[in-house]
Amino acid sequence: MSDLRQLYQELILDHSKKPRNFRKLESPNRSAEGYNPLCGDKVTIYLQLEDGIVKDISFQGSGCAISTASASMMTAALKGKTTAEAESLFERFHGMLTGQPDPGDLGKLAVFSGVSEFPVRVKCATLAWHTVHAALEGKAEPVSTE
Ligand code: ZN
Repeated sequence: MSDLRQLYQELILDHSKKPRNFRKLESPNRSAEGYNPLCGDKVTIYLQLEDGIVKDISFQGSGCAISTASASMMTAALKGKTTAEAESLFERFHGMLTGQPDPGDLGKLAVFSGVSEFPVRVKCATLAWHTVHAALEGKAEPVSTE
């Protein structure tokens, strides 16, 4: 378990230092902003949706290592997914972090399972997901985790 935990930490560290898809899309047809006042994390998600598929996704923002790594890994996980698959992944990821017993196979996103032991950090890890959920639903007002 300790080896696995170390691997998880390295993956989170890697994504927080070199976030993937960290840019603004040129012509997103959806976007949303999220804010976690508890930690000061801010994120903007840009989406290019075509025929119900996430053609492209990117993010910008500033925040702690957990929030940045989570946004980075989320964009990598959601590219090419249908909106239904994206929503399902959001619900299962959220379930994993809030202690649901069996969230199913989350692939690399499982690295965040340890975060559920730190309730304050759960909002850091789920911020990008709440924000992409709002973008998928086409909500205009910024998301706050409070
Ligand atoms: Zn944070």
